[in-house]
Amino acid sequence: MGVTLVGAGPGSVDLLTLRAAEVLRRADVVVHDRLVDPRILDLMRPDAERIDVGKRPGTSHSQALINDLLVSLGRSGRNIVRLKGGDPFVFGRGGEEILALREADVAVSVVPGLSSALVAPLAAGIPVTHRNVARGVLVVTGHTVDEDAGDFARLALSGITLVVLMGVELRGAIAEQLIAGGLSAQTPTAIVERACRDDQRVSTCSLDQLGVTAAEAPAVIVIGDVVSVLRADMSDLLTGATA
Ligand code: SAH
Repeated sequence: MGVTLVGAGPGSVDLLTLRAAEVLRRADVVVHDRLVDPRILDLMRPDAERIDVGKRPGTSHSQALINDLLVSLGRSGRNIVRLKGGDPFVFGRGGEEILALREADVAVSVVPGLSSALVAPLAAGIPVTHRNVARGVLVVTGHTVDEDAGDFARLALSGITLVVLMGVELRGAIAEQLIAGGLSAQTPTAIVERACRDDQRVSTCSLDQLGVTAAEAPAVIVIGDVVSVLRADMSDLLTGATA
């Protein structure tokens, strides 16, 4: 009963958690974003209802509408799953949905998923931490770079890998600010597009070339010396594990 927020992971069905698969099997209704792998929905009972609230050009479901939908479904006495890409609490608005459900007294729980923040670098062969190279990793959104001009300059931290989600559009400004903040223009940088999908693409450049390097969303940008730690082509690192 109630609503379960479930992280769908980076796409392919075999990167779901066992708990996510079990919750999907028991669902009466699944409210999902745009899904990469339709096999995820095959885990549901054939008679379960599917509601697609994914954003597409020309249509949009505002977060307020999604919250209202979840509240009314949550009150129906059925098992509701809210399926979200990656992890529900990493830029997934999972927190907002949980607050809305709690406020409406609807029972709610959450199942974690593998986040693109960590999986996209891995799929490109980039360890986000590495002894003597990076002692930490910072995950940030690139969306807000133009709201506060000094914002990214403050994130120019040596020895810390920077992972930027939603940063494709403003990647030039992000690079400029990081360089202004003291990061070397030569800092190795990678763009991981469509991580874990058949058409995954990894491009590398120096930080000062980020703005002129082609990139398409969805992509994760990785900035730091870890990008050049594993020099060989590691693009089959993740898929190789299941071969
Ligand atoms: N909750 C999600 C993130 C949602 S924000 C998670 O944990 O992964 C959406 C952003 O995630 C995109 O703009 C992109 O930066 C990143 N992203 C999601 N899926 C991706 C993928 N397969 N490859 C690369 N980046 C991805």
